[in-house]
Amino acid sequence: MDSALFCTRVNILFLLIALCSPCKFIQSPMDFGPLNFHQTTDTSSLDFGRIVFDSPSAVLRPQSPKEISLLLSFLSASSFSKVTVAAKGAGHSIDGQAQALDGIVIEMDSLPPAISIHRGRESGSSYADVSGGALWIELLRESLRFGLAPRSWTDYLYLSVGGTLSNGGISGQTFKHGPQISNVLQLDVVTGKGEQVTCSPTESSELFFAALGGLGQFGIITRARILLQDAPQKVKWVRAFYDDFETFTKDQELLVAMPDAVDYVEGFILPNEQSLHSSSVAFPSHLEFTPEFHSNGNDRVYHCIEFAIHDYQVENTDVEQVVTEISRKMSHIPSHFYSVEVSYFDFLNRVRMEEISLRSRGLWEVPHPWLNMFVPKSGIREFKDLLLDNISPTDFEGLVLIYPLLRDKWNANSSAVLPDGGGRAEEQVMYIVGVLRSANPATCAAQCLQDLLRRRRRVAKVATDPRIGAKQYLARHPSQGQWQDHFGRHWDRFVARKAQFDPLSILAPGQGIFPRTY
Ligand code: FAD
Repeated sequence: MDSALFCTRVNILFLLIALCSPCKFIQSPMDFGPLNFHQTTDTSSLDFGRIVFDSPSAVLRPQSPKEISLLLSFLSASSFSKVTVAAKGAGHSIDGQAQALDGIVIEMDSLPPAISIHRGRESGSSYADVSGGALWIELLRESLRFGLAPRSWTDYLYLSVGGTLSNGGISGQTFKHGPQISNVLQLDVVTGKGEQVTCSPTESSELFFAALGGLGQFGIITRARILLQDAPQKVKWVRAFYDDFETFTKDQELLVAMPDAVDYVEGFILPNEQSLHSSSVAFPSHLEFTPEFHSNGNDRVYHCIEFAIHDYQVENTDVEQVVTEISRKMSHIPSHFYSVEVSYFDFLNRVRMEEISLRSRGLWEVPHPWLNMFVPKSGIREFKDLLLDNISPTDFEGLVLIYPLLRDKWNANSSAVLPDGGGRAEEQVMYIVGVLRSANPATCAAQCLQDLLRRRRRVAKVATDPRIGAKQYLARHPSQGQWQDHFGRHWDRFVARKAQFDPLSILAPGQGIFPRTY
């Protein structure tokens, strides 16, 4: 046996005895041979949601994928331990998905943030190799030095590559390029058995597709090869306002049907004054829109479409002209159409401005009972009504994001779950709706948070009923039965993949899907 492996086995044995002891005698940091475990800190049991706080028994800060492999090889070979392991990227989950109660958290940011960029000769052949623990903002900064950038994004860039690829990774570019998981060429994964595997659509493809959208269940992504495109210098960023939901969604669908002209499409439901301004922190800076949210005893709701055009998109054409032509086809409130030109970097990094603003007001590090749902087009109107019945405009703090996605941009082999269409013929258009609400403890204490969580459950339950046929995104379901309902016809495939790549259910216990077995 390799001496490093032997040394690790002996030393992890001590770790396990330490973990199993009723009075855990862990010192910090703990030198277990080639693996260096750390005592847990407050942040090991913390995530963006601030709803679940499961504390691990130890933290590993690996310097290489080999260390992750050594740990998992040992745990999967030892028959007496029930220790679980969670990879933690940026910890921006909502419900403890990157936590491991009494287990080991692997902090992925300790891996060297190696990013290498390869410029291909032909269009569509450039890519970046990036560590699973790197943040998307780091990849953006590095790739821009070569005039390149990933094609598909999340709204917020301080998320890890491995974390978003374990879910999906969606934003306003998804209608055009698919989610981030549709823009990966290759992965290095350490499976729950400790095997280090390089996989792609043609090499160990079952693991490749299992890991993409796989909620961390099958392996830990230590490297991803991400497709790049030429980066534009500038972006034309446009916002248009609506007072009617049907017109709003019709115009969103019009925009996603123009992928040759439009590069990004999102939108918001605005239930109150606060939501109007929080969606406008970055732009427009001078909004001359003062809608009445309450008139004649009734609450009124407004809507905003946000779209963008890259400056290289229309060669020899004035981008301003293109925006005007697109606007003519739209049916927004005539005087409420705003556009601005910003750098590509600032556009992609726009949520950072929101973060800075919220942090300065003490509103970032608060509980976030978020709800994200994929809703079939046929159910979007009913879902919107359901949502508004469960939102009180007087106390709603946060944002409601809503925009269309196209089903054929998703690879059906990946583990990500989309709505079936509720028994109807599968529709090409579906919507993502994100109810991104904050529970400021100053105005919403423990009881109020529990009430918001109850309302979140109620909306999710009604929306996943076949009448609407929605599926949750980024959710933690409370029981295996509910996970089975979530996966629907894909449950058997998910279980078979788990048996193949993590048979003892060591990985990602914070998702609450599979109990650890011996
Ligand atoms: P973590 O919370 O650290 O981990 C999430 C899950 O992935 C856990 O189960 C963990 O064990 C697993 N995991 C982490 N790293 C790895 C790895 N290397 N290999 C295998 N498994 C791993 N999502 C979108 O799609 N679009 C958005 O626009 C978007 N915006 C967001 C904005 C904010 C402010 C926040 C807080 C979240 C947003 N999200 C968005 C959600 C986000 O994509 C997910 O929460 C994602 O999991 C966060 O990545 P992370 O690195 O923080 O993951």
